[in-house]
Amino acid sequence: MKIPEPRKNVKNFSPYIPGKSIEEVKEEQDIENVVKLASNENAWGVSPKAVEAVKKEVDKVNLYPRSVNTSLNEKIAQKAEVSPDSVITGNGTDELIELLAKTFLSAEDKDNIVISENSFARYKMAAKLMDTEIKRIKQKNFHIDIRGLYKAIDSNTKLVFIDNPCNPTGTILKKDELEYFLEKIGRQNNPPLVVLDEAYYEYVDDKHYETGLNFLDGKCPLIVLRTFSKVYGLAGLRIGYGISDVRIIDLINRIRPPFNTNRLAQVGALGAIEDDSFVNKTVKRTREEKEFMYNELDELGVEYIPSQTNFVLIKVGQKTDRKICQEALKKGIILRPLGGYKLEGYIRVTIGKRKFNKVLIEELKKYI
Ligand code: PMP
Repeated sequence: MKIPEPRKNVKNFSPYIPGKSIEEVKEEQDIENVVKLASNENAWGVSPKAVEAVKKEVDKVNLYPRSVNTSLNEKIAQKAEVSPDSVITGNGTDELIELLAKTFLSAEDKDNIVISENSFARYKMAAKLMDTEIKRIKQKNFHIDIRGLYKAIDSNTKLVFIDNPCNPTGTILKKDELEYFLEKIGRQNNPPLVVLDEAYYEYVDDKHYETGLNFLDGKCPLIVLRTFSKVYGLAGLRIGYGISDVRIIDLINRIRPPFNTNRLAQVGALGAIEDDSFVNKTVKRTREEKEFMYNELDELGVEYIPSQTNFVLIKVGQKTDRKICQEALKKGIILRPLGGYKLEGYIRVTIGKRKFNKVLIEELKKYI
């Protein structure tokens, strides 16, 4: 049987290979206690309020979820002090990134996007999907080079993606850098849309950080993306949101699949957003464990990039990165080397519970 040819650029993609799942490793290694420190999930579990809400909703899944005017959108709007029509929710922030690309990027018009190298991998994929050029700007000492990003913008730039904090380096843009950038873009005749991805913002403790929500003042086209996958512990439910000018949200809504966020995700997020005690516990424990890791790494003389997130980039050396990942797997710890990010020799480790962090340090000792 012959099958039809796909759209040309589909052939340039290969299926996304995610890190191994806990279930897979349990089976392969025949170990009971397996932990994943590869995807920046929440090591302290799920918000209990989210669990309660999901349980109550589960026998209603024969009904489609609400698609517009959802209670979740209203709650997010209320918390951010914006109108509900400034909010859009997605099947993870991931979906919103793709919807932004589909809304704004056209190969025919020779549009491009500007990103920092070593930023979240999905920005590139979204632009590639739309067959548009990707301008990648080198980082300076593991930090986003905001002036470099600005210089790269031309009249064909439609989107500038910035993860703040940045994944996988864990570093932030300071308030004055962001202010400088948004102000300059705001003064352009045909400004691009700045996509400020704040997936890890709850973990930040640097006083120089400022959320993009404070720049939604109508001066620069901006959308702020946030997720329930990290500090709220809902990565498996797939729910994230964006806040922007109502005209931007209206454009994305035109192509958003009608039931893109499911019933369980909507109520789970509604439960989680009220769960300050879980968020505070997660942030506190993450900071304590990050300090533990820093101290241990300092003692070992291993370099790392101080991080404002729930993960740390650790320099283990070329070739060692893969070996450490293989050995840690035998101990039930799933890690991922960062070759794909052009960060050969580094591993990005999600901050976990003490017992796993200790095992990881013991593994590192063998190589360093
Ligand atoms: N942005 C960044 C910077 C991320 O690191 C991630 C997930 N690793 C996402 C977005 C996607 O998050 P979600 O689970 O909401 O799709």
